[in-house]
Amino acid sequence: MKKLPTTKGVVIVNNNLIQGMIFNLRSKKTLSGEFRNLIKKITYLLILEAMKNIPLEKAVVKTPNGVVKDKKVSGEMPFIVSVLRAAEAMVPSVLELIPDAPVCHIGIFRDEKTLEPQQYLQLKSIKNIKERECIIVDPMLATGGTASFTISLLKKKGVKKIKLLSIFAVEVGIQKVKKDHPEVQIYCAVVDPKLLRNGYIFPGCGDAGDRAFGTIK
Ligand code: URA
Repeated sequence: MKKLPTTKGVVIVNNNLIQGMIFNLRSKKTLSGEFRNLIKKITYLLILEAMKNIPLEKAVVKTPNGVVKDKKVSGEMPFIVSVLRAAEAMVPSVLELIPDAPVCHIGIFRDEKTLEPQQYLQLKSIKNIKERECIIVDPMLATGGTASFTISLLKKKGVKKIKLLSIFAVEVGIQKVKKDHPEVQIYCAVVDPKLLRNGYIFPGCGDAGDRAFGTIK
């Protein structure tokens, strides 16, 4: 795993295999089915890294070969926040690995002129939200405005431990989240060189929601 030299709490989950998948995500030739498939695979790898220290407790298990003392996952399951729409392509992988994780959706679009986040769908609440770890999924960490806004909402609800999982990020977006919320851990697969004036990541992959779901502007 690479770490950004400048930023504590940012993990770049990358290797040559992941880089190969990023290349295909970038390619205009990649159609929506394969695009979602690639997002799904990369998300598994991000979750494995982000959840590697999930709390365990001692437990006894009856196996076909006898009874042994072992360890199992303990405590409240983390919950997922899916930032509509593109994050919906990441949610299935998280749920395959953490099947009972509740999923909250938030709808945010960026004002095209100001690039400021505008909320159009409220976050629902869940049981014991304050005791659970939160995993925000959003494949594109661009300006950082949407992520920071979402994190602020979660903190107002009393959520204390938050991780942000993105596939593409840019340094300016990372810095925005880290400045507003230094305690939040960020996991991404690649940090691209720049943010375009329209708020898109360059080279990135274009509009991740449109590409994943086959829609057009
Ligand atoms: N959202 C996208 O879908 N793509 C970007 O490059 C930035 C934000």
